[in-house]
Amino acid sequence: MKTLILKINKNKPEKEKIDKAAKVLKNGGTVAFPTETVYGLGANALDKTSIEKIFKAKGRPQDNPLIVHIADTNKLYDLVDDIPKKAKVLMDKFWPGPLTIIFNRNENVPDEVTAGLQTVAIRYPDNLIAKALIKSANLPIAAPSANTSGKPSPTDSKHVLEDLDGKVDIIIDGGLTGVGVESTVLDISGDIPTILRPGGITKEDLLTVFDEVKYDPALKNKDFKPKSPGQKYRHYSPKGEVKIVKGDIGKVIKRINSLTKEYESKNIKVGIMATLETLDKYECENVVSVGSRKDFKTIAANLFKTLRYFDEIGVDIILAEAIDELGIGSAVMNRLTKASGGNIIIT
Ligand code: AMP
Ligand code: MG
Repeated sequence: MKTLILKINKNKPEKEKIDKAAKVLKNGGTVAFPTETVYGLGANALDKTSIEKIFKAKGRPQDNPLIVHIADTNKLYDLVDDIPKKAKVLMDKFWPGPLTIIFNRNENVPDEVTAGLQTVAIRYPDNLIAKALIKSANLPIAAPSANTSGKPSPTDSKHVLEDLDGKVDIIIDGGLTGVGVESTVLDISGDIPTILRPGGITKEDLLTVFDEVKYDPALKNKDFKPKSPGQKYRHYSPKGEVKIVKGDIGKVIKRINSLTKEYESKNIKVGIMATLETLDKYECENVVSVGSRKDFKTIAANLFKTLRYFDEIGVDIILAEAIDELGIGSAVMNRLTKASGGNIIIT
């Protein structure tokens, strides 16, 4: 398959280009497009054959359900019969935005989208290209992140091209995505809203509308089965092996330096994911700062791009400083932990 790359102005999407991509979606094709979180790989959520193309292009496990994207809250009624009160509150406050809400699905939603679950994950993205595309297609669009399954998610169209060239119909180049980590997946079926995947809308944000919000215990404890099937996989992983180093920052720096020495003496190429405050403290050639340790938003925006950069320069081991799990820092640590397969060195 020849993939068409379509450059679209992110501030003023050109109508004819949007309509062209929307037509491909209407005809059952696949289009990668930017959202405010990461790039998504879209297809018609109501059509099983279109959905199968997403799973094939990504090599995604069949039991990992997709998020359906809409660009008009009224379109929810095509997918769900009942909109709970909690959902209405969330939609008013956080849509469009990086919050995915789990609803009970209706019979229009194919099993292929939900991996057989009776629920469907829905969000309304806040990106002009994404909104224009979904509106023009006039369809709900299923769109997981536009990467090969298991790899770091794409925050730039060039990452999408690396993974999906020749596997999808269109890749829209709409610049860099802003947030840099995926949406928050929230389950509101119980008394206390539960974060199944931390993301762009933080627990602190959610506490502005609810008295209590909790994390799915499976996020931290392997003895629990995650309610979000995607959380059970190793994910977001670059080719290099990720090891997180956690603890008092002085000790972290010492440990990373001693590990680097040890690896380099064995000819193992090391990359260090550092922060602004620690950048000049390391004795290693490949040190990248993802931002200030206090600026979690910048770290989130730089995370996946940095993991992909270490692949480009061919490092064997990535030593990453842990950051505080506050605000979007929780999502950053969730992705890093998955990327490392749980390999955390405590100092
Ligand atoms: P991605 O599309 O790569 O951003 O991943 C979507 C995430 O949403 C995965 O972790 C899925 O397991 C999760 N998800 C999608 N649908 C549901 C659902 N109905 N219930 C719980 N989690 C879901
Ligand atoms: Mg993904």
